[in-house]
Amino acid sequence: MRNIGIFGGTFDPIHYGHLILARDAIEQLGLDSVIFIPAAISPHKLDREPTGPEIRLEMLRAAIEGEPRFCLDVMELERPMPSYTVQTIEALRAREPETGFVCLVGEDNVARLSTWHRFDELSKMVQFAILDRTGLTTAHPYPVVRRHLDISATEIRNRVASGQSIRYLVPPVVEKIIHERQLYREP
Ligand code: ATP
Repeated sequence: MRNIGIFGGTFDPIHYGHLILARDAIEQLGLDSVIFIPAAISPHKLDREPTGPEIRLEMLRAAIEGEPRFCLDVMELERPMPSYTVQTIEALRAREPETGFVCLVGEDNVARLSTWHRFDELSKMVQFAILDRTGLTTAHPYPVVRRHLDISATEIRNRVASGQSIRYLVPPVVEKIIHERQLYREP
């Protein structure tokens, strides 16, 4: 049976934390590939202007280009909001009934996992794996992809807004898009 990792997030922007942990997930969990699924951002939930889905997508596409084990699915951007992980998994299972899906969840989201929409149903359809972020041990029953990388999209946006370099935090192609499109200039 094929096992595929599902990696949802806002990816605003995608950074090396995401990319390295996705690669580690393939290796440590024995996955065949990882599908990055950018989330629709509800403007009400943010205290800043959200970056448009096409631009987040452009960065994501550029970042994973050439890595045969990474791919991208835009279904959450095309679906009316609110959009939930359980719907995404239902759609993927309908498309690939023979595949096992592993939902990759950052450590900072574990505490809220059980509040996810239709969590009981979701947890019967997928396995969860937690992406280490702090190196700390947290209490939960899921396997952990081990790597402590203190990189966040928030830090990247803040660094751009204050004129600091984001080199070495994001792939050069992503850095180029951020500068060309003048993203994240406003604090
Ligand atoms: P923001 O700073 O805007 O909240 P983020 O860096 O957490 O963004 P998201 O797009 O929200 O990025 O992340 C998608 C998923 O990847 C989440 O589950 C998040 O916890 C996880 N993640 C992000 N950065 C890392 C990292 N450095 N190490 C491990 N997991 C990460």
